[in-house]
Parts: sequence; C-alpha cells; structure tokens
Amino acid sequence: MSGLGPRAAASPANELQARMLERERIANRPKHWVRLVTACNSKCLFCLDADTPRNVYLPVEEVQAELRRGLEELGADKVILSGGEASLHPAFHEIIRYAKDIGYDRVQTVTNGWRYADLAFYKACVAAGLGEITFSLHGHTPELHDHLTQHPGAFQRLIKGMVRALRDPAGPIVNVDVVINKQNVPVLDKIMELAISLGVTEFDLLHVIPQANAYDNRDAMFYDVKDHLPVLHKVFALNRHPRFVIWTNRFPVEFLEGMEDLVQDPHKMLDEVNGRRFMVRNYLDQGRALDCRQPERCVHCFIEPFCTTMDRTIAAQRAAGFAVWSLPSSPISTELSGPLPFGCDTLGLRFADWGAAAAAGLPETVGLELIVDAPLPLPLGWSRPVRLRVSGADALDGLLAAPLPDWLSIELALGAESARWMLEHRALLAERAAELGPRLRVDQPSWEHLSEAAAADVKDPAAFFAALGLSLWVSGLPACQAPGQRLCLAPARTGPALFEPETGRVDIRALARTHVADHYRAKSVRCRDCVVNSLCDGVHINMIRDQGLRLCRPLAAEGWGAEAEAQLRALHPEGLPRVRDGKPVEAPAPSLPGFAASAGLVIDPLAAVAEKLRARRAERAAAQASGAPLPAANPYGPRAT
Ligand code: SF4
Ligand code: SF4
Repeated sequence: MSGLGPRAAASPANELQARMLERERIANRPKHWVRLVTACNSKCLFCLDADTPRNVYLPVEEVQAELRRGLEELGADKVILSGGEASLHPAFHEIIRYAKDIGYDRVQTVTNGWRYADLAFYKACVAAGLGEITFSLHGHTPELHDHLTQHPGAFQRLIKGMVRALRDPAGPIVNVDVVINKQNVPVLDKIMELAISLGVTEFDLLHVIPQANAYDNRDAMFYDVKDHLPVLHKVFALNRHPRFVIWTNRFPVEFLEGMEDLVQDPHKMLDEVNGRRFMVRNYLDQGRALDCRQPERCVHCFIEPFCTTMDRTIAAQRAAGFAVWSLPSSPISTELSGPLPFGCDTLGLRFADWGAAAAAGLPETVGLELIVDAPLPLPLGWSRPVRLRVSGADALDGLLAAPLPDWLSIELALGAESARWMLEHRALLAERAAELGPRLRVDQPSWEHLSEAAAADVKDPAAFFAALGLSLWVSGLPACQAPGQRLCLAPARTGPALFEPETGRVDIRALARTHVADHYRAKSVRCRDCVVNSLCDGVHINMIRDQGLRLCRPLAAEGWGAEAEAQLRALHPEGLPRVRDGKPVEAPAPSLPGFAASAGLVIDPLAAVAEKLRARRAERAAAQASGAPLPAANPYGPRAT
C-alpha cells in the first residue's frame, strides 16, 4: 500500500479531504496479486488460506504467465507476491527479477519474515529488485506472536529480518500488517509501539473475518468491537499524525464514526470477490452456495454487502424485476430486436440533443429514459413518454420555468448545484411539484469514487430538505436524510455492461463494480436504535466517506419516524432480506436471451492441482510398495523451479 510518505502538517479539514483523495488514488492504483505457493511455515490461528489445498508450489512458467497477465490485461504497475508464504518458493529471487525485467515498477511481498532473518536470502531479494516488504506482526511479545502464528521462534526471526530491512539504506520500503483478533486487540497499541520504535511508519490493520482457521478458532479469534473501541480508536488516530499512515482492511464501517478517512476504499471489494471468483461463478450459474454461507459467519463478514447485492441481482433477473435497460451510449444495436430482458420495459439512453434522439429510430414498444446533454429547447411535436434525467441548474431554469408537456417526467439529480437552484427557486419548484406529483422525482445519485461524491453531493441532505420545506418525491436517500419527503424507489436499472458478451451470464467483475458504484451502503452503529433500521440499507459508502457517519440520524417511533416507517413498509412489504440475516440462497438466473444456460460447475485450478497431487502421492506409494520405478517428480512440489 505504500506511497503516502510522511506529511507536513496543514489545516485540518482541507488536509484531511486532500489526504483521503490521495489515499483513493493510491488504493486504486492498478496492482496485481500473484500467489506463488500455498505452502506456509506458520499455522496462524486466523489463517484465511487454510481452506485452500496446502503445499502447492506454482511452477515458474505459471507464475510468469500470471505476471505478464497483470501487466497486459490489468495494466498493473505494482505486483504483490503472496502465498501462503511466498518466500518459500524455490525460485523466489528469479520471480522477483522477472517481474522487474518485464516492467513492474514495484515488487512487493507479504511475509511472516522467517526467511529474511538469513542475510544471504535478504540480500538476494534486494539484489533481484524487491522494493517493498510487508511484515506480518501479530504480537508485541514472542509469546503472543508465536502463539498466534503457532510457530516457535517466529517473533525473533521476524524482528531480525525487519530490523535488517529497516536499517538498510538501500533496502526496500518496510511496513507492517497486523491481523486484529481477540488475543491481540487489547495490546494493539503495544504491538504498534514496538514497530514504531523500530522505525515503521505504515500499518495495514486487518480485521479478522469468518473464514478458514479464523472461523474454526472463532471463540479465540472473534471479539466484540465495541468493547475495544478505545484502543482501536487510539491506534487509528495515528493516521492523523503527519508521520504515520494507517490503512484498515475489512474493518466494520459502522464503528469508524469520526474516522471515516479510515473506511477502506470500496474497490477492495473487487479483490475480495476476485479471490472467491470460482465460488461466486458456481453460485451465479448453478445456485451452489459459497462454502462459507452460514448466517453465523455472514453476520461478521465484510463481504456481506456484495453477497446481498448478488442475491438481489439474481432475484431481479428471475422475477423480471428490472425496469430500465441502460445502454452505455446512443447507438441502438441489434440486441433490441426482441423484448427487453429481465422485465425491463424502458430503454435508458444518452443523446447529445433531441434531434439525435428523434433520428435514432427508437423502438415504439418500449418506454424511454433519456439523458439529453442539451435538453433545451424541448422538441415540438414529440409525444412519446420520456423520463428525462437532469442535474444542471441551466437545464432546471429552462425546464421548470413553464408547465411541462404531458409526455415528460423528470428525475432530478440532487447535488450541490441543483440544491442551490431549488432553494433559490423554491416558489417555482412548489408550483411544479404540485402540478407534476410523482412525475418530478428528486434522486440522490451514488458515485463510484469518493472524489465524485465530494465534488457533486449536497452536504447534509437532511438540512437541505429542512430548509426547502417542501414535500417532494425522493429516492436514493435513507429516511433520516429526507425528512418530510415522499420516499420512493428509483427504477431498477441494468444493461449489457453487466453481462459477459461471450456467455450472456452475469460478469463477476462488472457485478462487483456495479455493487461499489450503486449498491454499497453502510450504517452507523447508532442505526440499531432507528425505527426503520430493518427497512433501510443505509447511506452510500462514498457519501459516508465524504460526509461521515454523522449523516445516520436514528429516527424515533413518532413524528417523521412513524411516517417514514409506514412509507417504507409500503415500498418493501417483504422487508429487505439480507444474507447476514439468514436469507435463503437464490436459484440461478437465466442467461441473456439467445444464450444457453451455464454448462456446469467451474473448478478452482488450485483444487485441480490438489487433486493431481493426491493422485501423484497414491501413484508413488503404489510404486514404492511394488518396487516399480517411481513416477516423475511432483510438478507442484517445492523442487519445481
Ligand atoms: S457474506 Fe457469507 S456467503 Fe458471503 S462471503 Fe461472507 S461468509 Fe461467505
Ligand atoms: S437506519 Fe440509519 S441510515 Fe437508515 S434511516 Fe435510520 S438512522 Fe438513517
């Protein structure tokens, strides 16, 4: 993660905002994780990898192909060599050198530090081009660290290797990660003090999640965050010190009130999903639940918002529950020859002006939802119903100055600029709102990046609506941010960008991106006291990162709270079932029209390797027993280079 150097002190609010945008830039830098081995010389009590086949050493050619893929397909300029314990790979130095030779700017590894205690090994890493080492330090004493890693002597060797790297003037960047768990959370500050005393200034603090060993050892690993907030906030506060950089990883957003700069970049969810892509594929295509899908796990899981988005997407496909088929740009393609898929009855399109829309040959059988870059003047003689999505004040001036034609309804994007316009033209807006009813809907957009939210969003929507003093139809905001309004839902949108062009199945990466941009919401721990808690998904993650969890203002059971509850019950008669509440798994959804159903289960290549290894061992055992010549060496064993 390194890239944020020590900072000069500056004015608090602007400096924090600039700092967050810089963190977003770094977190979104294209980087590529390449696993070299699943072997490891530790047996950490919280290991997330323990469910993958152990002791696999990827052949060098496979590693090299993956390194090339990161550069060519993902455009990564940084690679992270991981495991298991990556340094156990017999060709570790060769792999580092290869990564540098083919063009990676930075080669990083994450390690338990054991091998770096050997001078010759360390020097060879640096000579090969290793530019960054993340040491995994989990305790401030040998007893605690060695207990958590189940590896006697691990602490001493890690410290020896880390000190060596820190003192080497030509050495790599050094940082530390800590898996926070029930055993070490009470002394987290001491662990960091130790690392700081050695010269470490950058930390990645990973919250334990319910997978693999961490789940098997759950009684010893899971802790109640609220019982340890003082120590957690103490170490998180270091991020405000110009000398230090703190990243959190998978830490529950709800507990970061006042420290929203530490909310993990939501794009990390793409990595999480990618790491589970074979399970996700089999769920989407075959309805085979992820191995970890158990309510008692899901309730602790950082990935749960994505799993809920995935379920809602499948359900909407199966129930024909989408409304708008959004095409990225104006060309109308042959895919529109039949009815729109998954229940869509409306086409979403963007045009430069109305002339272009009129000339596009839009099919008569569907509704239209348009963005028109130059929406004025409105066309004469147009009669087809259109929902027009508008945001700019110029457009509002022209559009709302006079009564609207019957064919037009408006989705007005709430933002700093449109909010200002609405306040300045309150009387006109009141007139139009009375005339149009639900044909005028104010919608809070969501943004994929913090920078977009920071630039566009109105600050404190609840204060804006209170100042406006009108009752409008409003979508995209939780009830606490739209007091006194007519709560409604924006139409469910999907489109070809969500599907693999070759198979017509949901594309996993596109789904993860859609989740981040549109559906990833979070709440404050205080939301548990809100009367509409079970009917509310919260505030979009980037609005929280921009404006803070303070936006979540729990509603009481009277006044606006009672009214909002009645409105939300009408909108969600079956509630908002979530994976963490034990929602049943979904059956697979159909493919896009014209594509076959999915062919079958996909196999995780690591599982295939494990199967080969099992077969190889059986073969060798049989050969040994019968005195026959032994089969060739194991291609995935530690001798492979
Ligand atoms: S939410 Fe549940 S099913 Fe989804 S990844 Fe987490 S533990 Fe697994
Ligand atoms: S649950 Fe939280 S975000 Fe939702 S309305 Fe209540 S306070 Fe606001």
